Amino acid sequence: MKAQPIASHFIDGEYVEDTDGTVIESLYPATGEVIARLHAATPAIVEKAIAAAKRAQPEWAAMSPTARGRILKRAADIMRERNRELSELETLDTGKPIQETIVADPTSGADSFEFFGGIAAAGLNGSYIPLGQDFAYTKRVPLGVCVGIGAWNYPQQIACWKGAPALICGNAMVFKPSENTPLGALKIAEILMEAGLPKGLYNVIQGDRTTGPLLVNHRDVAKVSLTGSVPTGRKVAAAAAGSLKHVTMELGGKSPLIVFDDADIDSAVGGAMLGNFYSTGQVCSNGTRVFVQRSIKETFLSRLKARTENMVIGDPMDEATQIGPMVSFDQRQKVMSYIEKGKAEGATLITGGGIPNHVTGEGYYVQPTVFADVTDEMTIAREEIFGPVMCVLDFDDEAEVIARANGTELGLSGGVFTSDLTRGHRVADQLEAGTLWINTYNLCPVEIPFGGSKQSGFGRENSLAALEHYSELKTIYVGMGKVEAPY
Ligand code: NAD
Repeated sequence: MKAQPIASHFIDGEYVEDTDGTVIESLYPATGEVIARLHAATPAIVEKAIAAAKRAQPEWAAMSPTARGRILKRAADIMRERNRELSELETLDTGKPIQETIVADPTSGADSFEFFGGIAAAGLNGSYIPLGQDFAYTKRVPLGVCVGIGAWNYPQQIACWKGAPALICGNAMVFKPSENTPLGALKIAEILMEAGLPKGLYNVIQGDRTTGPLLVNHRDVAKVSLTGSVPTGRKVAAAAAGSLKHVTMELGGKSPLIVFDDADIDSAVGGAMLGNFYSTGQVCSNGTRVFVQRSIKETFLSRLKARTENMVIGDPMDEATQIGPMVSFDQRQKVMSYIEKGKAEGATLITGGGIPNHVTGEGYYVQPTVFADVTDEMTIAREEIFGPVMCVLDFDDEAEVIARANGTELGLSGGVFTSDLTRGHRVADQLEAGTLWINTYNLCPVEIPFGGSKQSGFGRENSLAALEHYSELKTIYVGMGKVEAPY
């Protein structure tokens, strides 16, 4: 299988190569096969991309929002027409099952282009402020050159979720995908060009943790939006603070999913499975601490075990496959080491816990794993694993579970399953997180704001809220009379 792009980078409307950059091998996670060889951006490539963005941005910003929106909507249409091809590429890039990528990856990217393209005409208006004889008005103005840095779990979605609001506000973007998944963003750049985006406005450069700082520290960059881990977030935010750049931080989580004894148990089991095993557990908002009220624990666990053991693990390109490999060998090692810690620290292994033996080849597979009797102090209950490992914790009452759910420095998401709607709202209100779900989990349509609180980050993606993070207000005060000076 090969997925070699024309060149490593996409700058100023065309593919660009610089073989002086370190080689990045793109591996298909299901087999370990090298499917493409690319090069990390050299400093010269970084300069070229930022210079192209800086040059192109003012003219783009001067276009009407409607004209900009038309191009994004066209890009959305092209993405939908090519959904199969883009989904297969996403599966090669990430190892995620085609069953998922075909409904969740290019389509959610297209949603983002469609949404921001559609709201452009009305969403970017300023305001008029009467001040007696005088008045003021505000304009929403772009920031300039924005940098997007992506994680590897949703490469195409992340490239669009950052690109669409940045572009609609009149900015230019330089996007660096994760070194683990370099392929998808190049296609997004191609499609935007095909949709009519002027050259230089959406550039993609490859690279790793040594390339990112060249972008973050660059004097011509006004904004950095990172999707990544908390440790990376700390470094990027600190570097961006050096020149007071705007930042959006979409970071990790260790989110609680609380199941009360009056919940529809099958829905709660389904929600917990989606919130732990979708994308082989590589989802930032996953509800990895599943708090189950003690009286329903046995029923919950037995249904969960049966359904988990029924999941289809295998070839990601097979439409029937529900669980693919982890993205990389290193990620599998990390997940396996957490599973070993769970066992060593006394959690009860309900199912999984190993590498599936019926999957052949070098793929980075891990069985969907459920631990019960997990306590708050255990490592697996405190640290983000980012793999298919669900921790089930017992609880007795509402006040207790809220305090324990909030007992973490992270605050990305959370969920509550209950048939008592008053309680559902009361609990959601008290959970410290950016996005909460009641009687469902992990749904993130473009219409709703998404982002973290506490150390899971700041800033919001999607929805009208994202516009505030890719633009700023300019206030213009208009004096209508003579200036009354006391001197
Ligand atoms: P990571 O932090 O290792 O890398 C993220 C990106 O940052 C990569 O492109 C990497 O090359 C780059 N990078 C690393 N060091 C850098 C530096 N010093 N300066 C600039 N760029 C740097 O994360 P990952 O392993 O790719 O992704 C998994 C993490 O991402 C998890 O913690 C997950 O929760 C988080 N995530 C968050 C969201 C969200 O929306 N909140 C979504 C997806 C993933």
